[in-house]
Amino acid sequence: MDQNYDYIVIGGGSGGLASAKRAASYGARALVIEGGPIGGTCVNVGCVPKKVMFNTAAIAEALHDASDYGFSASVNNFSWNKIKKDRDAYIAKLNEIHHRHLENNKVDEIHGYARFVNANTVEVNEQQFSAPHILIATGGYPVVPDIEGAELGMTSDGFFEMEELPSRAVVVGAGYIAVELAGILQTLGSKTSLLIRREKFLRSFDSLMNETLMEEMVTMGVDVCPTTQVSKVTKDEAGKLTITTDQGQELKDVDCLIWAIGRSPNVKNLQLKAAGVEANEKGYITVDDYSNTNVSGIYAVGDVIGKVELTPVAIAAGRKLADRLFNGQSEAKLDYSNIASVVFSHPPIGSVGMTEDEARAQYGEEVKVYTTKFTNMYHAVTKRKTKTAMKLVVLGAEEKVLGIHILGIGADEMIQGFAVAVKMGATKADLDATVAIHPTSSEELVTLR
Ligand code: FAD
Ligand code: NDP
Repeated sequence: MDQNYDYIVIGGGSGGLASAKRAASYGARALVIEGGPIGGTCVNVGCVPKKVMFNTAAIAEALHDASDYGFSASVNNFSWNKIKKDRDAYIAKLNEIHHRHLENNKVDEIHGYARFVNANTVEVNEQQFSAPHILIATGGYPVVPDIEGAELGMTSDGFFEMEELPSRAVVVGAGYIAVELAGILQTLGSKTSLLIRREKFLRSFDSLMNETLMEEMVTMGVDVCPTTQVSKVTKDEAGKLTITTDQGQELKDVDCLIWAIGRSPNVKNLQLKAAGVEANEKGYITVDDYSNTNVSGIYAVGDVIGKVELTPVAIAAGRKLADRLFNGQSEAKLDYSNIASVVFSHPPIGSVGMTEDEARAQYGEEVKVYTTKFTNMYHAVTKRKTKTAMKLVVLGAEEKVLGIHILGIGADEMIQGFAVAVKMGATKADLDATVAIHPTSSEELVTLR
């Protein structure tokens, strides 16, 4: 393997792979160094296995409703172990595809953990590699709190290793991962508690979204415990956990405790100091709008910069960087405004742009909102009901759309198209001029009064 490259990428996850392949497409000699399984968090312990489990839970919901639609199906003998095996096999296939794509794109690949020797050189498996351009795309890892017995719990990584559905689960945290995993577990039949340290979860989301999801999760049977923190975890001889909270509760006979309290950047073993790369107090690498670190020739994208921790963001930033470095597009950079995202909760949330609170904080009285809340027509004949809630946040007399927030069945697939409209600067009149599609939930967004 050649020791000198045009581009060295540390981390073969979403951002690193995308950037290396784009660079190679312009003729750059690129090397990807990956210490874990190829594909990174998203493929192995993130979006992909999570979406398989979200789909599994959606099938369970459909089976529950099946008799209301005239079928005799019921949820019997669900095998977590079967879906886990098939999910693992699917991921193994994706790993192979990623290796093949690197090979087809003429990107070299080396397995091992890299550390900086100096600003142009990294070492991996006792070999040194040099390049004028080095990208840090090392992602992050899940945080475990510093409390007695914390090691008896698992993180989202452990969730994907579980061989069987736990009968009793406790999830701690208030972000995407906490609500997604709690929703999956409860829907598939695990008695689930969700412990959040403040009044609400998903606090950065619009209040209509987090409040409605809270109601929905309580309705589906999740034991949501606000303003509750874990103070101690113990394990008995039968392997069951007891979780003691600062509210004096003891949650007993717990099979699985999941910490979902955030992630930290993977920088510990990089020896950033050897290259002089600066990180902030939380370890996130500091970059400018063009993904440049403070050291010329060293860049960072994705979760390791802690800006917007989503796969398409890491991919887009990685590609823009390659466009700039290897295709002469000197102004290429990712526009971080109006990035849509989905929380794969039950029901899901799709969101783009400003929340009502953010818009009011910035524009005050000029902000107007349109909201609706209804029961999806899917539930016309079902005993189980879920809510759909939508909010349009608009600005001034022109009613420029600042934000769109949707919770409900199908929100995950609805938001992408609406995000295009917001990105293009749509007004409410533009939405209203779009003839509705009936009968759908999304038609509500073009008929709001
Ligand atoms: P990663 O994909 O984490 O890749 C970093 C890679 O660097 C890793 O493979 C790691 O092994 C490697 N590495 C680290 N240090 C070194 C080193 N020193 N040398 C060599 N290699 C190293 N995002 C979405 O958009 N949609 C979702 O539905 C979604 N669901 C998620 C669910 C879960 C449970 C989790 C945890 C995350 C989810 N995310 C989702 C977030 C998404 O996975 C990340 O934003 C994305 O993977 C970040 O890409 P990245 O390239 O920055 O890092
Ligand atoms: P987040 O940072 O989104 O949420 C973690 C939350 O847990 C914090 O916001 C905080 O909320 C709470 N928390 C923090 N510390 C503690 C503590 N000690 N005890 C109890 N609660 C605590 O992290 P996640 O791990 O959920 O996800 C990481 C990132 O991965 C996400 O931000 C997202 O970008 C990405 N992701 C995306 C997904 C998607 O696109 N569908 C799915 C999963 C992850 P508070 O301050 O309100 O208490």
